[in-house]
Amino acid sequence: MKKIFFLLVALAMFISQLGIVVFAQGRVDHGLITGSKSGSTDWFVGSAKRGAAATTGGTAATTALVNHGGPVMNAPTIYIIWYGNWNQTNGSDNPAGQQIIRDWAANIGGSTHFNINASYPPNGSISGAVAYGGEATATGTSKRLSDSAIKTLVSNTITSGKLPKNANGIYFLVTSSDVTASSGFCTQYCGWHTHATISGSDIKYSFVGNAKRCLSGCAAQATVSPNGNPGIDGSISVMTHELEEATSDPDLNAWYDSSGAENGDKCAWTFGHFQYTVANGSFANVHLGSRDFLIQRNLMYSNGSWFCMTDTGHN
Ligand SMILES: [Zn+2]
Repeated sequence: MKKIFFLLVALAMFISQLGIVVFAQGRVDHGLITGSKSGSTDWFVGSAKRGAAATTGGTAATTALVNHGGPVMNAPTIYIIWYGNWNQTNGSDNPAGQQIIRDWAANIGGSTHFNINASYPPNGSISGAVAYGGEATATGTSKRLSDSAIKTLVSNTITSGKLPKNANGIYFLVTSSDVTASSGFCTQYCGWHTHATISGSDIKYSFVGNAKRCLSGCAAQATVSPNGNPGIDGSISVMTHELEEATSDPDLNAWYDSSGAENGDKCAWTFGHFQYTVANGSFANVHLGSRDFLIQRNLMYSNGSWFCMTDTGHN
């Protein structure tokens, strides 16, 4: 953990704070919500400010994302690795919650949201397509996973043949809310992505915990959410963030800015001006398949500048 820094972004009408933490082994973290729950900023739609949309964020161009020359993923494949107890009665860690994640994985590719990544030059380097390659369950008794334990779980899932070994894959280890990650889930980050050599291949993987464990830190809507599961709905925004970063910076040597921020980091915890309410009163901004989601914005390249966008047509 040699390099820890925080980036403060002052937006036109809002103040967003997001933490970016880059660790020595190259793990790139997606920071926590750190804004105040009170005052004039519109953090936290749920109990803190019911009826208000999630933080919109500014519309001005951001500092540039820079291509450092490393590879990007043209059309990655998502794999899901479940860990923990997904048969709980807490309304979140259950088969219905897992289905929300599957539906996200199956429908994020080619969406107007994910196609933001296809704006990065040179044209065609990132296609906007994403495949869903399937799921597996990793078993273990630990409820406090170290970074190395997470790597081992991913590695064992591949070497045992539960999931194919695919250097074009992004493997998401998703934990139930009774499980944490000892390097700082809920205290330092909501998720992270990295890569490692596993069985001779460069494997990209990500850890994302169920945001139910710390709704105030890792979910924009803590009481109601588009799919009636604030923990999983919060995790979906984090998973999208990590997917977009793993696609544009899979080996941590491609797209990031002069401060080390990847695309998702530069738009973290901002949800744009295209939010709408769904039947239960929660806010959403992206429709994928048959579901609505509230997903943070991502960075789009347009005419030489970079903007946080909800999708390719809305900021
Ligand atoms: Zn990030």
